Amino acid sequence: MKLARPEADLYVPATGPSAGLTPAAALARTTHLCVIAHQDDIEINAYPAVAECYEKPGKYFTGVVMTNGAGSARTGRFAHVTDAEMQLIRRDEQRRAADIGKYSLQLQLAHASGDVKKPGHPGVAADLAAIFGGCGPALECVYLHQPADKHDTHVGCFLRCLEAIRALPRDQRPRRVLGVEGWRDLDWLADADKVAMNASPNPKLAEELVGVFESQIAGGKRYDRAAIGRRVANATMLSSHAVDSVEAVSFAMDLTPLVVDEKLSARDFTLAHIEKLRADVGGRLEKLG
Ligand SMILES: [Zn+2]
Repeated sequence: MKLARPEADLYVPATGPSAGLTPAAALARTTHLCVIAHQDDIEINAYPAVAECYEKPGKYFTGVVMTNGAGSARTGRFAHVTDAEMQLIRRDEQRRAADIGKYSLQLQLAHASGDVKKPGHPGVAADLAAIFGGCGPALECVYLHQPADKHDTHVGCFLRCLEAIRALPRDQRPRRVLGVEGWRDLDWLADADKVAMNASPNPKLAEELVGVFESQIAGGKRYDRAAIGRRVANATMLSSHAVDSVEAVSFAMDLTPLVVDEKLSARDFTLAHIEKLRADVGGRLEKLG
């Protein structure tokens, strides 16, 4: 398979279930596909997808990182690293995560953030058409950023993916699409609309996967602690009455309606969920006032 950027990285981990296959063959058998903005976004925000495929026969996880990691913050021992060097460091960290998590395939598209934020950017569109079009009937679920994220690149990434999926013939579109937490969690969704994904399996693996991204953690952000802490908090705070049935939960938003109905705007769909929150808060205050 051919990707638009010369620095794009196509990596089939030797530790994974597709070792020895071409990237196209590894993509074609994918059951769980995560397409996300940055190196470390998969491991922080979509761990349940990785866990669902980890050492499970017949399950194949493919991770796609859209941007090149150039503009990331840096301090400490990474303070003097140039943008070009940082891109290589982050590429290698992502490869290491793919090794540890035994992914079927890891693609890093190496686009500039600015290009991901542009509707219809030809290189981004061509890559996403190749990726979504290259998956086969085994594809069970696609994981994207959620539309109410507060990071422009995350939202751009979600919108470009939605455009690419909608461009596919109906019978080739993924059956299920979920939006995962990132730079905004999903606690604002009504409980009935939260997709609670079990993030409890293999806690050591979960920690190792977020710990790989040293260049980011050394930049002064404890993403490793924050990622695990959010999952534990989600599990406990989901319901005030029920006993915790799992130790760690990642929330997702069901985006499948946007794929089924291409006339439904992402904006209207998302704001309808916010209206539900407004009604819930207003209703409770009124009832008890
Ligand atoms: Zn990100």
